[in-house]
This record gives sequence, structure tokens and C-alpha cells, in this order.
Amino acid sequence: MIIRQIKSKFLMNIFNQNTYVCISGKEAIIIDAGAELEDVKKAVKGKRVLAVLLTHIHFDHIFNLEKYINEFDCDVYIKNGAEKSFKNARENASVLIGTELKFKVPEKNIKHYTENLKLGEFNIKVISTPGHTKDSVCLLIDDDLFVGDLVFSDTIGRTDLVGGDMGEMQESLKKIKELSYKTAHTGHYVVAKKETIDSVIKNYI
Ligand SMILES: [Zn+2]
Repeated sequence: MIIRQIKSKFLMNIFNQNTYVCISGKEAIIIDAGAELEDVKKAVKGKRVLAVLLTHIHFDHIFNLEKYINEFDCDVYIKNGAEKSFKNARENASVLIGTELKFKVPEKNIKHYTENLKLGEFNIKVISTPGHTKDSVCLLIDDDLFVGDLVFSDTIGRTDLVGGDMGEMQESLKKIKELSYKTAHTGHYVVAKKETIDSVIKNYI
């Protein structure tokens, strides 16, 4: 599997959000949707996009989602019941930037995660990891773990937003510590090895 990391550019790059394109053979999946469509298209390189997988529904991770759906006509995977956050500015945290963003995601494109998700050649283990938000998940594909805003290379995700909970965060961090993987692909900033992530987690559990 080839993984391409694409940085978001909206609001003058301040969010430094990471969108990932994973490619296997002639197929691709996209993880989160903050990056510009044009940059994502370049990374996809004409492969068939099977789905967009969201780590959680915060505006910075879905900023360009509607454009991706229009372009690729693909499904969007989220946790069961999480779709209400698309249209709720407090839940999608867009109130943080002083605006109320409502994302229009066609119902026919919304799919819910199962624990083991198979999309084409991609075998994805979906791990429920609330703490940053109720709907947060980590996605394990082979040795690569996509962690969203659960944990970063030097700190953990915020727990002070709507749906955040430090107790749940700690349980989720423990789960991730037990997991076998090599690289954590974070929702912001830089990717990190498992050893680095484990040393961060130690400070919070
Ligand atoms: Zn977030």
C-alpha cells in the first residue's frame, strides 16, 4: 500500500490538517477530507476511489468533503449515528472559527463502520476511540494506524470540545498502546513511530 499525506490549505494553512490517500493496485481510499480537491486528485492519480473514511466529524477534517463526493461519487464512512454532526456547528466545532458550517452529505453516500471493513483490497480494522469526540475512530490497515486527533507526536487531542471526555480519552489511549502497528498517521502535524506515540501516551494514562 502506498500512503500519500496531503496538507490542508484552508484558512491559510493554520490547521495543518493531514488528509491521506492510500493506494493499492488500481484502487484508492481517502482518510479525512481537509485537503484541497486538486491536491487529492493529484495523489489519487486516476485510481478508483472506493470511499472516504472519516476519523471524526470536525470541520477541519471534512472541510472539502462535499467536493470529494461530487468528484468521486464515493461513500463516506462514519460511526453509526454520527451524521448529525455534519449539520451541527457545535458538534463539528466550526463555532471555534466564529462561523456555523453545515455540511451537506447526501444520505445515500453515508455508510457506517463495522469493526472489520473490507473495501476492495483494503482490510481495515476500525477501533472505536472516543475522548476527543464521541465519534472518533482509529483505522488500522496492515502496519499503519490512522489516529485522527486522538494522539500526536508530542501530545494528545483536545478533550474540552463538545463530546470530549478525558476518562474516555484515557481508555482509548490504553487501547492504542496495546495495538501492534509501526506508524501512526496523525490528523495534524507529523507522522510518528509507535514508540514515539507510546511515550506520549504514558504521560496521560
Ligand atoms: Zn478534531
